[in-house]
Amino acid sequence: MKHNTQYSLKEHNTFGIDVRCQRYFSVENEKALQNLLTDPAFTSLKESYPDFLVIGGASNILFTEDVNGIVLKISIEGVTIKEETDEYVIVRVGAGVEWHYFVEFAVAQDWGGIENLSCIPGSVGAAPIQNIGAYGVEVSRVIEAVDAYNIALNEFERFNKEECHFGYRESFFKMQGQCRYIITSVDFKLTKKHVLHLEYGAIKEELKNLNIENPTIAAVSRVVCAIRSSKLPQPKQIGNAGSFFKNPVVDSVLMERLRSKHPDVPHHVFGRDFKVPAGWLIEKAGWKGYREGDAGCHEKQALVLVNHGKATGKEILALSKKIQKDVFQKFGIQLASEVNIFLSNHQ
Ligand code: FAD
Ligand code: NAP
Repeated sequence: MKHNTQYSLKEHNTFGIDVRCQRYFSVENEKALQNLLTDPAFTSLKESYPDFLVIGGASNILFTEDVNGIVLKISIEGVTIKEETDEYVIVRVGAGVEWHYFVEFAVAQDWGGIENLSCIPGSVGAAPIQNIGAYGVEVSRVIEAVDAYNIALNEFERFNKEECHFGYRESFFKMQGQCRYIITSVDFKLTKKHVLHLEYGAIKEELKNLNIENPTIAAVSRVVCAIRSSKLPQPKQIGNAGSFFKNPVVDSVLMERLRSKHPDVPHHVFGRDFKVPAGWLIEKAGWKGYREGDAGCHEKQALVLVNHGKATGKEILALSKKIQKDVFQKFGIQLASEVNIFLSNHQ
């Protein structure tokens, strides 16, 4: 049972929060995962601590304190073709593969479907958990199946798309399945005859600026990365976990009330309701660029909370709560965090 003790997670979370865990394990394949989780020495160690946390790139976690127990990093690699026709390819990808590496790989093979999801940090295994999305595409669109390890039963299970219960930044794994399963690989069905999704304003504008009339998936991927790097802070330079809050979905009554007070409020039809950009609400409430010690709200994208250097997770969490309260007072909308807040179970 090779592992590290009293291990610093500072370099292992994109917020750059300086916390430790008691024990840090990494597994590189399914067999090693099963061997570890059924090893009596490991199970008794696991029972002796209150915390057990599975991570990929920790780009969607805010650590507010030390992990009093085990952190298990999923490092399962591999990209394997399972099925291929003239129309599509089905590939199985290890949960530990870096998401953007997989996007680049797919684009290089001219396999379409995930080019709008370029430059999202994190691992393939975490992608289904919050059903990652950007620029009008959610990963659920191309997921065929998810393989996961059932921690209580010590066996592998396969989830087809319906069983994953994907929603807006949601899935079974983020709800009832949370803490019960470890995702080991994901099957994706990618296209050879592409359907591009260019409806988001920023993509259209950037393609126009570059005089690209008939974009390839490689061009879309490049454009998405360029837009993202122009407005999102790079975690290596300024710690962050992307959007801190989900975009709220409001009904037509609240939407009308909002519109009568703020005629400029942007909104997008979302089924029978409306999605309002959380970043706009936060900016309108005056928080954009705000800083309290080293915890702050990014100067170019108010939805992103940042660690300017030595902020603690608790300081960032406290700032997020102030923003939630203020937005609620000003607009009557309760923002929900998208980032997973780690709180120790203590003992
Ligand atoms: P982690 O942060 O390690 O884990 C996230 C959650 O999943 C935790 O609860 C963890 O316990 C659990 N988990 C991780 N791996 C496994 C596994 N194998 N099995 C079971 N549970 C697991 N997200 C978007 O949706 N769209 C974006 O456009 C986007 N842009 C971002 C931009 C930046 C700059 C940053 C920093 C983040 C962004 N994110 C975005 C958020 C984040 O990148 C994604 O949510 C990503 O999928 C998280 O992957 P991860 O491997 O880092 O997961
Ligand atoms: P933006 O273009 O400024 O738009 C603001 C919000 O409006 C977005 O969050 C988006 O919702 C929504 N929106 C814009 N155009 C839309 C359309 N045509 N139809 C429906 N909804 C529309 O957003 P941004 O902050 O620069 O981010 C760009 C994209 O990257 C977004 O899709 C965003 O989700 C994604 N992103 C996500 C994270 C994260 O951590 N989750 C971080 C950075 C960027 P959606 O968010 O639902 O798309």
